[in-house]
Amino acid sequence: MVFDVAVIGAGAMGGAAAYHLAKSGANVAVFDQFTVPHDRGSSHAETRLIRQAYFENPNYVPLLKRAYELWTELEDTPGQLFVKNGLFVAGQKDRTIMQGILDSSKQHRIPVEVLSSLDAKNRFPGFRFADNDVCIFERNAGYLLVDNCLLAHLTNAEKLGATVRQKTIVDSLSKTSDGFILKSGNTEFKAKKVVISAGAWAANLLPGKYKPVLSPHRVPLFWFPRIADRPSSEGNTTCFAFDLAEGFFYGFPQLSSDGVKMGLHKPGMKIINPSAFNRELADDERNPVKDFIKAKLTFVRPTITKEATCIYTMTPDENFIVDEDDGMVILAGFSGHGFKFASVIGEIAKDLALTGKTKHPTDFLRFRW
Ligand SMILES: Cc1cc2nc3c(=O)[nH]c(=O)nc-3n(C[C@H](O)[C@H](O)[C@H](O)COP(=O)(O)OP(=O)(O)OC[C@H]3O[C@@H](n4cnc5c(N)ncnc54)[C@H](O)[C@@H]3O)c2cc1C
Repeated sequence: MVFDVAVIGAGAMGGAAAYHLAKSGANVAVFDQFTVPHDRGSSHAETRLIRQAYFENPNYVPLLKRAYELWTELEDTPGQLFVKNGLFVAGQKDRTIMQGILDSSKQHRIPVEVLSSLDAKNRFPGFRFADNDVCIFERNAGYLLVDNCLLAHLTNAEKLGATVRQKTIVDSLSKTSDGFILKSGNTEFKAKKVVISAGAWAANLLPGKYKPVLSPHRVPLFWFPRIADRPSSEGNTTCFAFDLAEGFFYGFPQLSSDGVKMGLHKPGMKIINPSAFNRELADDERNPVKDFIKAKLTFVRPTITKEATCIYTMTPDENFIVDEDDGMVILAGFSGHGFKFASVIGEIAKDLALTGKTKHPTDFLRFRW
């Protein structure tokens, strides 16, 4: 059989691509080397933040607006995907991130509340704000439950007729006159088009020019215990972030007995081989988050209950690569902020695979080096 499209990698992006391709009637196969969900790539560990007042670059906002619609449509499937519990980001007003949030919200009319330090202290009593901090609250922000999101895309793709091949590594990819041959061990698969959504492994399958611009880094995540009877915010539900000189720290409401999940948004040690790297964390990775808790949080003890290692695949400018190149759709380099976009990236991948173009504004994400 020759598939219309083969999707390599069934993580956040590949699962979404398979879903949109199957929904549009294409004969699609999606391959993953592991069983999804798993904790070896970039899409594990409970939750991801989702927000629209996008400090990284306002060009992302139209994509986020469509991503919100698509996550909500997918929500009809069993299992909650998107919890819109609000997010505040606190810091000095003149910092780049704080200005970026305000610029994006103004340019794209995204409702945010700008609170003074005093108002923030009253509203979010579990946090310490500096006197000259501002606190920007985005009511429609929140978090995505990662395993449910991955499974919603993949199981719906399968229901719509997609062939889902888990525990099937694609060892090599070669171009023929009318499509591609994928080799997995002794088995060959044929497809007219391919989507490469292989996360930290993408450079193994892509032409050489992609290797220098895709840089996988390990990134730790930590869980900490709550202190009983100390509220963080009303109902203890808000996501939070602080943009400090020490870095951008963020956290979620407690979802399990593991405690409150927190992280520092920063690529750590460079990974040479994503299939075999040291996942043991060190104190110099733990201490910044513990120090952040001591300085800013009154409702959490700085004692780690659980930790996880995840992967950011960085590009030089920290913007994604979403492009079509000689029959291949490339979804790569999501640089530690891609998950929230997966629903719309799937739709874009479908457009690019089936027609070679998309109506979504993605020119700024084409290969650019
Ligand atoms: C700690 C951390 C925190 C983050 N926080 C946020 C956040 O708050 N908000 C946000 O929007 N984003 C966040 N991100 C980023 C986001 O999670 C990633 O951008 C996103 O998960 C990337 O998805 P992906 O599909 O590219 O990669 P993955 O989900 O890793 O998927 C790639 C898949 O390809 C498979 N694969 C690879 N090679 C092959 C092969 N040859 N054959 C078969 N299968 C193959 C892998 O097994 C894997 O399942 C965070 C990331 C990390 C690590």
